[in-house]
Amino acid sequence: MVSGSVDEKLEPILSEVLRRNAGELEFHQAVREVLESLGRVVAKHPNYADNALIERICEPERQIIFRIPWVDDHGNVQINRGFRVQFNSALGPYKGGLRFHPSVNVGIIKFLGFEQTFKNALTGMPIGGGKGGSDFNPRGRSDGEIMRFCQSFMTELHRHLGEYTDVPAGDIGVGGREIGYMFGQYKRLTNRYEAGVLTGKALFHGGSRARKEATGYGATYFVERMLATKGQAFEGKRAVVSGSGNVAIYTMEKIIEFGGKIVACSDSNGYVVDEGGIDLDLVKEIKEVRRQRIAEYVRLKGAGSRYVEGGSIWSVPCDVAMPSATQNELTGKDAKILVKNGVVAVGEGANMPSTPDAVRIFQDAGVLFGPGKAANAGGVATSALEMQQNASRDSWTFERTETRLAEIMRNIHDRCAETAEEYGAPGDYVLGANIAGFVRVAEAMDALGVI
Ligand code: NDP
Repeated sequence: MVSGSVDEKLEPILSEVLRRNAGELEFHQAVREVLESLGRVVAKHPNYADNALIERICEPERQIIFRIPWVDDHGNVQINRGFRVQFNSALGPYKGGLRFHPSVNVGIIKFLGFEQTFKNALTGMPIGGGKGGSDFNPRGRSDGEIMRFCQSFMTELHRHLGEYTDVPAGDIGVGGREIGYMFGQYKRLTNRYEAGVLTGKALFHGGSRARKEATGYGATYFVERMLATKGQAFEGKRAVVSGSGNVAIYTMEKIIEFGGKIVACSDSNGYVVDEGGIDLDLVKEIKEVRRQRIAEYVRLKGAGSRYVEGGSIWSVPCDVAMPSATQNELTGKDAKILVKNGVVAVGEGANMPSTPDAVRIFQDAGVLFGPGKAANAGGVATSALEMQQNASRDSWTFERTETRLAEIMRNIHDRCAETAEEYGAPGDYVLGANIAGFVRVAEAMDALGVI
């Protein structure tokens, strides 16, 4: 077996996944990457391949697809498709976000649910893996349309949820506003104030302090720890962060707090470069308050900044790159440019933002590379802290929650690094994350019998 290929014992499992999930390319990509790492595990512990354990891990426990009818502001009936893939509940209730984006299909939700299972295991917390969403496009929709859509979505989804069953959160296109509308509809349909059924709630509904910040802060803590292994820090470094949504904004905030400078960020139309350092308050005003495009930044900021429509944000030279928008947004070509420009560390805030080619290029060049399932686990970990607060009817301070988040991220980093070392690939965080996550899920499943 060579790194980057699937062991021959595991090849039939991959072939079956490809056959059974025809056309679901992102899901194939995510499964292939994990199976590439597992060759070393089954070589050392052949029992992990017993009882079709790996085959079962690759097959979701349940997949729900449903119709979402709703009425737009002009009185027209619109139809969208809803999904919830309940991937694995060996470690706890299904847990994972909801994505509203026109690109959503069952293959994307399945890849996200599969990744989520290992990510949640890595946090060390009692949560299984799941993911959901809809092909609904929130862009340009009024507040009333968003509310009616969320209510219709929850009218079907609620029967599959529960604090001990399945606990969704936000993801692309789903923030505090949408979670509020969905929680309201869940409460109305069930006649239960079941705060633990959704995370990412507002504080007055039992939300956790620092949940909004958690994914971005957590990814930054992870990269900080990777840099420390080389005796480096964020202080004085140039960083590029793609996206300008929830993860990107709070990644930028923590990098700035650590003394780094953000030189570029983006949305799906283009990117802005500000050599003086991105003005984060302005980005928040544009994205969180006005809900406008990132191009507005240049108009409001004026001299010193520039906007590039389309193109690749990764052509902007930087020491640290944090892809925080969406899957496969950073290609092999981008990775080559980043390496040529001297990138030291890459931390994935988004899920699977780097293509397999890009990951290989970073690793071959000795760039510190933190894969999403480890680096962005701070969001779901803080969701688990929110569930903990809900169960005990408690509300922690920001400091207490962030301290716990930082500790969890340190543990995840160290577990990945130690596992990579143990399996003969020091510094390979992809292998470390895949194996450490897999082993925890596999042991929990095995102890439950064949289910
Ligand atoms: P948001 O909706 O808040 O922001 C997404 C950002 O990415 C926006 O700037 C958006 O631009 C951009 N984007 C979305 N789709 C594309 C695309 N196809 N091409 C280019 N840019 C795109 O989402 P989040 O910040 O919550 O999520 C970002 C990533 O982080 C996702 O991969 C998500 O799965 C992952 N993640 C999120 C967590 C969370 O807690 N929210 C937890 C762990 C991972 P535009 O506005 O133009 O669409």
